[in-house]
Amino acid sequence: MKPEYPAAIGPLNVTAESRTPPDASIEAFVAGLPKVELHLHLIGSATPDSLVRLARRHPDGGVPTDLDALARWLRFTDFAQFGAAYGKISRLVTGGDDLLALIGGLAEALAASAVRYAEVTVTPLTHLRNGLRPDELADALGLGRARAARDCDVELGWIFDVSGDLGPPAAADTLRWVLGHQPPGTVGFGLGGPERDVPRAAFKDAFEQAVAAGLHSVPHAGETEGPHSVWSALRELKAERIGHGISSVTDPLLLEHLAAGGVALEVCPTSNARTGAATIENHPLPALLRAGVRVSLATDNPGLFNTSLNNEYLLCHHALRLSRAQLVTLARTGAEAAFCSSAQRRRILDEINAFAHENEASVNADRPDQHGSTGSSLPAVSSSRSTSTARNWPAE
Ligand SMILES: [Zn+2]
Repeated sequence: MKPEYPAAIGPLNVTAESRTPPDASIEAFVAGLPKVELHLHLIGSATPDSLVRLARRHPDGGVPTDLDALARWLRFTDFAQFGAAYGKISRLVTGGDDLLALIGGLAEALAASAVRYAEVTVTPLTHLRNGLRPDELADALGLGRARAARDCDVELGWIFDVSGDLGPPAAADTLRWVLGHQPPGTVGFGLGGPERDVPRAAFKDAFEQAVAAGLHSVPHAGETEGPHSVWSALRELKAERIGHGISSVTDPLLLEHLAAGGVALEVCPTSNARTGAATIENHPLPALLRAGVRVSLATDNPGLFNTSLNNEYLLCHHALRLSRAQLVTLARTGAEAAFCSSAQRRRILDEINAFAHENEASVNADRPDQHGSTGSSLPAVSSSRSTSTARNWPAE
């Protein structure tokens, strides 16, 4: 069965129609722009080759063992299908070597998108329950991170999350492992998995302890639930960034609050299209930018969604009508919102600024008005919930 995806969600579907010059070299521009990736899951980053290798080692795991069948199997149309596939893939990872292979493939993919620094979400309980020993998990992450820096020149930070459907006791178990092991690069504590019927506030205690221990709070919220979920993440979980947060676009007060506080949203357009959280045609990203909300562009599960950070930037340009200057701003926001050292942030920002300077002519020539009226002309956001961008969103 062929899933019905929006017209422009993947590398094969980014079209040139309705574009105007100087787009001829937009691919080279995006490929050269130094970037930061702040929202991607280690399991979901598994490349097709890595997945097939893992599946062949565990042929009874329910994951196809050849590339064509795998590609068909990965055509999700909703969050439930995605979650089921994600669970099966997770169960293939049973040893430190499996993790090292995933991290190696991930680092190569990040380097191919000119990513200098990435914060990767790892779900410790998933791996511990699938047979990894607590020390083995921490050691594999430490070694994988060192190899990524050495071999691919990509710095990795770790965000450790819990799948919300497992409940607060699982969050406490996760935090116990994190604080007991703290692999090098540990930066944050997260909350992932399904959002429906999983109130953010239920995890208040675990996040309080995590923040008290020096971890940054980075829960998912406002992906498949309304803005109430984002408010809760901010208030109860003290979120410093929000994973997704796209439903914020339906709440003008929340938009003002996010913009005033400088809270960045990690926005993943292809992921939203693949899980049914949003369509590309009505994607909230341009409206979030118009409202002054900081947006860091990300991939979420690039391996499973057949995307890359470069592809997300191209998608923003072609389908969401962002100008080159806006793409540079997305890259800067990624660096500014990262939980890396200030020296590292400075290095990446200097690199982005140098790139923008070198490409000043093409940035200036690519004025927002050349991209039509839908994305980049920066009108004020309506205070009404019936804006065209928000129209398809579920009620709070
Ligand atoms: Zn995510």
